[in-house]
Amino acid sequence: MAEKSGDSLLYSRPMLNSTYDLHTHSTASDGTLTPAELVRRAAATGVGVLALTDHDETAGLEAAAEAARQARIGFVPGIELSVTWSHQTVHIVGLQIQPETPVLQAGIGKLREFRNWRGEEIARRLEKKGIGGAYQGALGFAGGGILSRTHFAHFLVEQGHARDVRQVFKRFLVQGKPGYVPGQWASLEDALSWIHAAGGLAVIAHPARYRISATRLRQLLGEFRELGGVALEVVSGSHSRDEIMQMSTLVRQLGFAASAGSDYHGPENPYLDLGRLPELPAGCRPLWQHEAWQDVQETADRRAI
Ligand code: AMP
Ligand code: MN
Ligand code: MN
Ligand code: MN
Repeated sequence: MAEKSGDSLLYSRPMLNSTYDLHTHSTASDGTLTPAELVRRAAATGVGVLALTDHDETAGLEAAAEAARQARIGFVPGIELSVTWSHQTVHIVGLQIQPETPVLQAGIGKLREFRNWRGEEIARRLEKKGIGGAYQGALGFAGGGILSRTHFAHFLVEQGHARDVRQVFKRFLVQGKPGYVPGQWASLEDALSWIHAAGGLAVIAHPARYRISATRLRQLLGEFRELGGVALEVVSGSHSRDEIMQMSTLVRQLGFAASAGSDYHGPENPYLDLGRLPELPAGCRPLWQHEAWQDVQETADRRAI
């Protein structure tokens, strides 16, 4: 089928001059657009290559890939794994993953169990503060996808306990607040081993967001490199201009590749839309021009044939 193979080439060939957005969320985790809606909005806003990277979940990838074929934009199957490193939650994006890989599915299965237990515990703690029905309420917002604090936030806003999601996190869902539940996510080592088992590349998500000293950050990056991690998000929807420049210096000093992702969660967040990411600063090497990206891309091409 000539037309089909033409499509698959268009779909998988690296696009050097395209706009890349390699970090987004759908309803499979805590985004508010379905995978297909997300892809259509990305295409409409000028994104040329999109990665869907739902938290600890791959369920949206097939529908997103199909929508990307129809919208004729490049698609990268991804995931954003929750990791506990040195008592701190760190997010690791895996790109070009083969979602069906058993090791990866077993790993995220454990994270899902933890999410469900944590959800029940969050609800118990809120109940003690006089807020009932939070577990069922949050499940309703999760709509069958993974259960996230974001879904509790939507429930609490709906119930009038806070003005918006930002405020609800501050009052209820962060460390020291009534709905916060500590716990262990994956280890850094496990997360990278799952990504690598799935044939993917590991990227540190929004590295400027972690509340750790510069020394600890370098320690994290050292361990990440030892474990085979290749890139840092230099451009992120949650990085300021200054933070982009700081992260750009860091990747150049340490020899990491640079990734770019909006961390888009849906149109409710008015100050962060798709298709608006700044370019990577001069001098850092885009992940999509890295030889490791070409390798996985070629493997993906062979799979598509
Ligand atoms: P979880 O992985 O379930 O602990 O939820 C983390 C998610 O909550 C993140 O991916 C963000 O989407 C969201 N989030 C975390 N902190 C905040 C905040 N301060 N304001 C708004 N959303 C937040
Ligand atoms: Mn999120
Ligand atoms: Mn994140
Ligand atoms: Mn994210």
